[in-house]
Amino acid sequence: MTMNALSMPISGLAALALALGAGPAMAAPTVALPSPAAPVLEPVSAGLVTYDQPVIALTHAAVIDGTGAPARVDQTLVVAAGRIAALGDAAQIAVPAGALVLDMTGKTLLPGFVMVHEHLFYPSTREYLGFPLSMSLLYLAGGETTIRTAGSVNGYADINLAREIAAGTRLGPDIDVTAPYLEGRGAFTLTMPQLANPAEVTRMVDYWAGQGATSFKAYMHLTRAQLAAAIAAAHRHGMKITGHLCAVTYAEAADLGIDNLEHGFAAATDFDPDKKPDACPADQAAETALGDLAVDAPAARALIARLVARHVALTSTLPVFEAFDPQHGDAGESALAPLTADYRAYYLRRRTRLYAQPAAGLHEHRLLLATMRLEKAFADAGGLLLAGSDPTGIGGVVPGFSAKRQFALLLEAGFTVTAAVHIMTQNGARFLGREAEVGTLAAGKRADIVVIAGDLTAQPQAIANMPLVFKRGVGVATAAVFERLKGVLGLW
Ligand SMILES: [Zn+2]
Repeated sequence: MTMNALSMPISGLAALALALGAGPAMAAPTVALPSPAAPVLEPVSAGLVTYDQPVIALTHAAVIDGTGAPARVDQTLVVAAGRIAALGDAAQIAVPAGALVLDMTGKTLLPGFVMVHEHLFYPSTREYLGFPLSMSLLYLAGGETTIRTAGSVNGYADINLAREIAAGTRLGPDIDVTAPYLEGRGAFTLTMPQLANPAEVTRMVDYWAGQGATSFKAYMHLTRAQLAAAIAAAHRHGMKITGHLCAVTYAEAADLGIDNLEHGFAAATDFDPDKKPDACPADQAAETALGDLAVDAPAARALIARLVARHVALTSTLPVFEAFDPQHGDAGESALAPLTADYRAYYLRRRTRLYAQPAAGLHEHRLLLATMRLEKAFADAGGLLLAGSDPTGIGGVVPGFSAKRQFALLLEAGFTVTAAVHIMTQNGARFLGREAEVGTLAAGKRADIVVIAGDLTAQPQAIANMPLVFKRGVGVATAAVFERLKGVLGLW
């Protein structure tokens, strides 16, 4: 479907929202009439679109384009039919006649985030429950215009949601849907399979590839033989496979041909002095060893070199580790606003219990700092570092806010503002094979744009102030999304 077809009916709903007084702080646009032939947004998405004029000029903005290049000041970006038609110095870019002009003085434009460790489920008392409708909208309101889920607990819901978003009947990020987890014997939740052998792994990969999943994730208890089967089957379908491993080390997985590893180095069991083949460590020895590991230790350097040589991408998921760390992890009141009262209380209970144990808290703190150091070293060595926020763990990692935390934590790990943006945009797009379309701001690319109120280079904390997100040239006022989704994560 063309962007024109998508944009027309939204205009009518946006007009309705504006008439009802739900409009954004920015100047109200003139709106086009709806086309009777085009798809109509379903109710949850309806009324959340603020700007969808055929031509929109964002003038006098600072631009961080996602390539890692320094910010450029006083830029004009022209959006036409869902794409970036022009981008350059404001003095040199002509604003097309009839364009809606939004003055972006004092604001910074970034590419829409491409985050590769997201989920459409959230941790509850015992199990992972899926809330794909609310979570997908929250991701969009947090600047994420493309996501890869990194494991699903309800494959059909995720696949069907991705199709509705692609068809234009629902707002949300484009979704690269990872099939239900490929897990072996010993899964810690009821929501995962316990695959017994390589043949069962192959059968599951083939099934979900046929159902429409577009990537795969190997989980903690898979053995080397099972992982080899999973990699072979995924690659036979032309798909990539990542892993949150445990029984298999990073070095073993790299040698088997895995494409990506999750959670930085925090899930690496390579450094456990008592590691047994095909078995998860019985205690926290691997984590403790990791917490003690210096980036220039021979074992660390060797593993980083091996991953880089084998082109294994690494996903940083600092927000989920931050939540465990008493010295970091206060999610803050506004971040908890989308949660139901029950889910919020559950998270606060878990946090209080964990933070009351100083030794456990220190262990988590050391683990967070170690993975930060090693991720920076991996990127410095030429590795492809990706970003995700992973809304699991003890909770408190809430879509809509978690990408902003990932940005702040990458800065704490030592990356510059432009490098952190690059990791969260172009690197993800490159890994997902979507680089020609998204991940950078340039003429011809899709108009997936994050608007930051403030000069992000001078004041990185401005990341928290994100009034507007465009996807395919359609602008969504984030405040309206957060208002609508107050207290619903845990219901739908
Ligand atoms: Zn995860």
